[in-house]
Amino acid sequence: MATLSAQDQSGSPTSTAHTLTTETRWDGRPVIAGARMESWSGGTHPKLSPVDGELVTPVGFCGVEEVALAVRSARGAFQAGTWSRSAPRHRVEVMSALSELMARHRDDLAILNTVESGKPIGDARAEVDRAVLTMAFFAESIDKVAAGEVAPVAGPSMGLVLREPVGVVAAITPWNYPLTMPTWKLAPALAAGNSVVLKPAEQAPLSALYLADLATQAGLPPGVLSVLPGAGEVAGAALGRHNDVDALTFTGSTEVGKAFLRYAGESTMKSVSLECGGKSPQVVFPDALDLAETARQIAAGAFSNAGQMCNAGSRLLVHRSIAPALTQLLIEEASSWRPADPHDSTTRMGAIIDERQLDSIARHVAVAQHQGATIAYGGCRAREDSGGTYFEPTIFANCDAEMGIVKEEVFGPVLAVQEFESEAQAMSMANNTDYGLAAAVWTADMARAHRAVRQLRAGNVYVNSFDRSAVTMPFGGHGQSGIGVDQSLHALDKYTVLKSVWIELAG
Ligand code: ADP
Repeated sequence: MATLSAQDQSGSPTSTAHTLTTETRWDGRPVIAGARMESWSGGTHPKLSPVDGELVTPVGFCGVEEVALAVRSARGAFQAGTWSRSAPRHRVEVMSALSELMARHRDDLAILNTVESGKPIGDARAEVDRAVLTMAFFAESIDKVAAGEVAPVAGPSMGLVLREPVGVVAAITPWNYPLTMPTWKLAPALAAGNSVVLKPAEQAPLSALYLADLATQAGLPPGVLSVLPGAGEVAGAALGRHNDVDALTFTGSTEVGKAFLRYAGESTMKSVSLECGGKSPQVVFPDALDLAETARQIAAGAFSNAGQMCNAGSRLLVHRSIAPALTQLLIEEASSWRPADPHDSTTRMGAIIDERQLDSIARHVAVAQHQGATIAYGGCRAREDSGGTYFEPTIFANCDAEMGIVKEEVFGPVLAVQEFESEAQAMSMANNTDYGLAAAVWTADMARAHRAVRQLRAGNVYVNSFDRSAVTMPFGGHGQSGIGVDQSLHALDKYTVLKSVWIELAG
């Protein structure tokens, strides 16, 4: 079993691949109000590693009762003001301590991530580094971003616009970035002074639970943060409908994002911010700067994280004149993305999260073939003898707008290639989607690039690059890719409310 090969019951390491470096143990129990507890209403579920199919640890799922307890303690802490009204400098220090603890536990966080999500250890380390930076960025914002403004108003009066924490925030996150997604939600929500109840994905809850342990060590007061593993339809829905949650922040599928809008409507009209699916186009013009480098980055955009990214560049739109050359380069690139052992630091592509997701990818591939797309590379399950869940990087040629592979989010390492003849046609094909998360344009002509930037309907547009971002830049989607943004100071908007105060000064 992965757990036991990782660390036997006495805590002594037995395998280099899965060994945690410190006192850390695989622990699937929820963190409620700052302390580990046994869950009681959602049952215990085995967490299997996609790396090798072995048991990592049992995870204690939470149900409606644990959700009620966590929300009650979140509200209690918020009202007590131990965090929400504590000195800004105090909050800076606690959150900075948390980011330092995360950095100090980099190896453990990375191993947890690889074991629970199947991603390559190099990517997992990079994910920790990004999360540390995000936590530090929002920590630093606390005593620097103005908590309001003075509005210009008439007469002997003063208009104050106060920015206040919203209260109790429920965050619901997916499995593809088990540390980054919780951090993207927690860091700004806590920085703004809120209490947070986080429900990580059932497939990968361990990194978020460990993050909560570190938050307790850093000095976050009890009640301010709870992390509740549990089923989406149970714990996620209970948070969505809870009458004492003030704001919902979600990353996941568009379908479930819509469910959160319904939960809010059926309950208290709490605010909802969503980061949902995508089917992001990469548009390559004949004057693209360096075709080999372009192919390298397009492949990375489609195959990184085994394609399990909401902003994966899974649609390639290429000018007819360079389609054969670019497709050939991509086929050569794809071979360097063949799945390998996630614990090997040279591995570029690791595992798919679980058998269910693997089946879903295989189904998309079968339907695409049935609909007339041709496989230029890959198309099959890989590394079956590992016991884990792997899929080859896959490229489909001869795709058209009506195919499922062009319209639907696969959430796997599958790239669909379409050809175009004119700029106008390329833009219209790129925007022919319900989604609007990301898009890329590859060209040496800056005027054309700027025209494309303005025409592409997406929250993130990349020019001669893909999936580049910084903590200072907002990340969010247009259309059915979402509402609101993570990252950057704009993320604070989701976790704060404005209060207008009119003060009469007439004597
Ligand atoms: P993915 O497609 O990445 O698995 P989902 O949208 O299914 O994304 O899941 C993202 C998060 O939403 C997870 O934490 C999951 O448990 C939760 N979730 C799934 N279904 C529901 C639901 N019906 N109500 C509330 N939360 C849900």
